[in-house]
Amino acid sequence: MPGALDQTAMLAAIATIRSWRTDPDGAAGACPACGAKGLVITDCSARPHAEWYRLQCADCGLEEMLNIPLGTSGSGGAQ
Ligand SMILES: [Zn+2]
Repeated sequence: MPGALDQTAMLAAIATIRSWRTDPDGAAGACPACGAKGLVITDCSARPHAEWYRLQCADCGLEEMLNIPLGTSGSGGAQ
């Protein structure tokens, strides 16, 4: 299977997701595995405590579900 990102790729993927969230209409993310542009990011978040994103790359066949814990923002206030 082509998935299984290593830690470096995982951090790159998270950074890509963060910038995508800030500017969804901006430049498409680059695939953390092969670097190709046009990474497809789907927000699959369903819980209040974590965010799930599906990353899909048509170029190398990457399909990865990525979990981003929300534990770092301590101030709360999210609805
Ligand atoms: Zn790729």
